[in-house]
Amino acid sequence: MRPEAIAAAGIERVVVAAEGERASRLAGLVREGFGQGVEVVACEQLAEALVALESPTAADAVLLDLGPEGGEGLGRLERLCEQSLETAIVVVSEWGDENTALAALAAGAQDFLEAGTADGAVLAKALRYASERTRIERELEHRAMYDPLTGLPNRSLFEDRLRGAIARSGRSGEPFAVLFADVNRFKLINDTLGHGVGDALLCEVAGRLKSALRPADTVARYGGDEFGFVLEGVEGAGGARRLADRVAEAVSSELLELAGRELSVEIAIGLVLGDGTSDPETVVRDADVAMYRAKAKGEAVTLFDSSMQASASERFEIEQGLRRAIDEGRLSLVYQPLINLDGGAMYGVEALLRWNDPVLGSVAPASFIPIAEELRLIEPIGRWVLHAACEQLASWRSRGLGSDLMLNVNVSPVELGSPEIVDWVAKEIDRWGIRPGQLCLEITESVLVAGITDGEQRLRELRELGARIAIDDFGTGYSSLDAIARFPYDYAKLDRGMIADLASDARRRRFLRGIRALATTLGVTPVAEGVETAEEADALRVLGCGLVQGYLFSRPVPPAEIEGMLARKDRPGLFTRPAPKPAQAAGASSHSRIVV
Ligand code: C2E
Ligand code: MG
Ligand code: MG
Repeated sequence: MRPEAIAAAGIERVVVAAEGERASRLAGLVREGFGQGVEVVACEQLAEALVALESPTAADAVLLDLGPEGGEGLGRLERLCEQSLETAIVVVSEWGDENTALAALAAGAQDFLEAGTADGAVLAKALRYASERTRIERELEHRAMYDPLTGLPNRSLFEDRLRGAIARSGRSGEPFAVLFADVNRFKLINDTLGHGVGDALLCEVAGRLKSALRPADTVARYGGDEFGFVLEGVEGAGGARRLADRVAEAVSSELLELAGRELSVEIAIGLVLGDGTSDPETVVRDADVAMYRAKAKGEAVTLFDSSMQASASERFEIEQGLRRAIDEGRLSLVYQPLINLDGGAMYGVEALLRWNDPVLGSVAPASFIPIAEELRLIEPIGRWVLHAACEQLASWRSRGLGSDLMLNVNVSPVELGSPEIVDWVAKEIDRWGIRPGQLCLEITESVLVAGITDGEQRLRELRELGARIAIDDFGTGYSSLDAIARFPYDYAKLDRGMIADLASDARRRRFLRGIRALATTLGVTPVAEGVETAEEADALRVLGCGLVQGYLFSRPVPPAEIEGMLARKDRPGLFTRPAPKPAQAAGASSHSRIVV
């Protein structure tokens, strides 16, 4: 490469700003220094140079002559710097005094040269270095303010913009909105499909979020899978909510194709309105609280109100209490019978976790399991559940009770994400001599949605150990039919949502008949959960869904009660048929239970 070419690298256009004929003389030197390929524009007036620099990409560097006035010409430099922040500026002056040079650098120039000593080559070199330094400075600034993965503003720029919005709102009296959005099930996807897929998902979500906003809005990556928004000019809570709905819709409206899979992605958004009196930290905290509330309620957007603060501290208490509960052995299991409607006997029991905290009282699994999953406490908890439930089954069996009973244990999809689960199950099966088919692991439908490659393999390994697999809450998630057909499992537990009102709703019965047929095709046994009325049980029997579970037969009860039922050989599933019409059997109770 020729020396001129090296000197010109990265520079395409230079603006020379000087008074009168000095402009063309300096421009000539610069042209000579760079050689061909660099356009040099000579401007005899500052105003002319400012016009030439109007677009930020109009020049790669500016050579500004302070002229005979020396330090007096610094005002021109300031005006130039104000207008073209992105452009490197090199100053030349007849007066090479130190003070003027320092003042020029302080005002924003990249370099200062004495006109008399600078020939074309020196000028070109200075301009190129200055342009390179400016580019690097901009890049460093960008790195400090933007998230490298998604290219969105980072937390620090978000906080800047938030402070700006508060100040502007103080002047205009107009409210602004802050949104906090978090990707639902991100942890599950990241842990199971790998961080590469997790990163790609975040980039795709970032693009969708940006596409839903107006040019002046800010969306930033606040951290992890959390995004923060500052929206001004929102027309009150109603307008802010409409914008937030649009953002949520932009993310979830289309399936996302990643690593050869189609994933449905949703976000939960917390929304808070702020004004000139808002404190940035409080706004962020409130938006975060509202976002957790949105998640807990399964809503896309939740507007903050002050009553929510209490539940955030509740969450913290659950976190703390749960850690203590594991250490202090405050977890216990109750068991709910699974009933075979054909004959009415107990087919199995589902172990359900209970936590009785000395301070919080009895905490429902629906409140603490998601927190345990998030904190990864679900693994020690899950191991304890499996161990304690298998021990219980072995203890019943040693007393001649429930030798054919199936034991159902719930396993979180987060636990399934770790390969150790197979060893753990194998160990418990061995330790307690559990026979093939006696242990059934229930995993929620989300395991199919996330499309966990290893998960599918893991289910196969668990089945090879002799365990059965049940897909819990079947029909409540977003699984594709492909996943439903491909995954290896033995039971489909139909959620109460599909069972309720079965007796009075013909369409639902037709739907369930279809599900029954689908299950038969797949070689899967349906189990109806949450059966509460005799009418529902009868409709299920007619539909051929013979395995049922629900308050109608028994609530989840302590082990001693199950023992009693087993010892008495109770058949909780024996019911009368729906009563004949009153004219035929006056006085008969329609749903009385046959006591055996
Ligand atoms: P699940 O596995 O679908 O369990 C069924 C839930 O429905 C239980 O709630 C049960 O008490 C309730 N239920 C049973 N019959 C009826 C009925 O007739 N009507 C109504 N409305 N509800 C009924 P529970 O015990 O509160 O557990 C809630 C969820 O927490 C479970 O849903 C399961 O997903 C999770 N869970 C419970 N124990 C464990 C555990 O040991 N490990 C894991 N990972 N999750 C667990
Ligand atoms: Mg279950
Ligand atoms: Mg269920």
